[in-house]
Amino acid sequence: MRSFQVCVCGQPLQLLEHATPQPTGTEVLLKVLAAGVCHSDLHLSDGYFDLGGGKRLSLEERGMKLPITLGHENVGEVVAAGPQAKGLKAGDRRLVDPWMGCGECGVCKRGDEQLCTKPGSIGVFRHGGYSTHLMVPHPRYLFDIGDIPPERAAPLACSGVTTYSALKKVGPTLTTDPTVIIGAGGLGLMCLSLHKAMGGHSAIVADIDPVKRDAALQAGATAAIDSGAPDAAQQVVAATKGGAWAVIDLVGSSSTARFGIDCLIKGGKYIIVGLYGGDITLSLPPLPMRAITIQGSYTGSLTETRELIELVKRTGPPGVPVATRPLEDVNAVLAQLRAGKVVGRVVLTPH
Ligand SMILES: [Zn+2]
Ligand SMILES: [Zn+2]
Repeated sequence: MRSFQVCVCGQPLQLLEHATPQPTGTEVLLKVLAAGVCHSDLHLSDGYFDLGGGKRLSLEERGMKLPITLGHENVGEVVAAGPQAKGLKAGDRRLVDPWMGCGECGVCKRGDEQLCTKPGSIGVFRHGGYSTHLMVPHPRYLFDIGDIPPERAAPLACSGVTTYSALKKVGPTLTTDPTVIIGAGGLGLMCLSLHKAMGGHSAIVADIDPVKRDAALQAGATAAIDSGAPDAAQQVVAATKGGAWAVIDLVGSSSTARFGIDCLIKGGKYIIVGLYGGDITLSLPPLPMRAITIQGSYTGSLTETRELIELVKRTGPPGVPVATRPLEDVNAVLAQLRAGKVVGRVVLTPH
């Protein structure tokens, strides 16, 4: 098998060739049909997240071992399965849920493997899909995609379930009031599309890039606001007649967090998803006085992935522009993503 791996943090991925492993126990070997390129792969290849104030969260200190094959948005075709991997046959096409935990602790048993304190995520702590082949430890991480084309299904594993889970956290006001979505990149367009599929009332998108704001309006946003404008929060307050009940921040920078919290009405909720990085200083009395909630949201659970695939089978694949590229182009695609030149999603097609 051929894989593109992070060998040195901050350097381009290197193509390495290894013997294709054979599945044992509950393992399932897939050949990779589609592997989405996610913005967080930039942080993973850099080896850290920016905590603000010059501080960094090192991924190697968190258990990422090099060399590692990135790629956590994968659809594959079953090649072989271990003797304890039930319910699959060669040729089956499956979406891989990459957010795996230890599988044994209370959190994992409850179904929230993405919150396990011993994460084993594919493409982060375990080899991912920037490769001809991918080994998955258990069939419970594999989901039947039916007729959804692999390149349209792959982004559901991260971009899809991450925004789906964030939208579920909005609660009942999702269908009665506008939701504000900060960031109109690939994740933003996915969020907008799923918001509609979930029966969302209306969506106001905020982004600093006019090209991305246009893309959001084309995709059905009722308003697109320049989040870099000095009166951006006032514009949202005016557009929502008093402030937003829910803001989903898909960027997660110091400035978007400040903006997102300033957009809220009393009782509103700021849901932070993006990992751009930074920090903020908050005055505390307004938190109780305005009764606002600040909530983090990280990927989604296996149950949410199952619900999402059912939703997409009913309503059709999200209307996010998808471009396919050969596996060998991975470094060029990452460079485009870093330069902010990607509208929608790029999916690698190793087979
Ligand atoms: Zn991702
Ligand atoms: Zn666990």
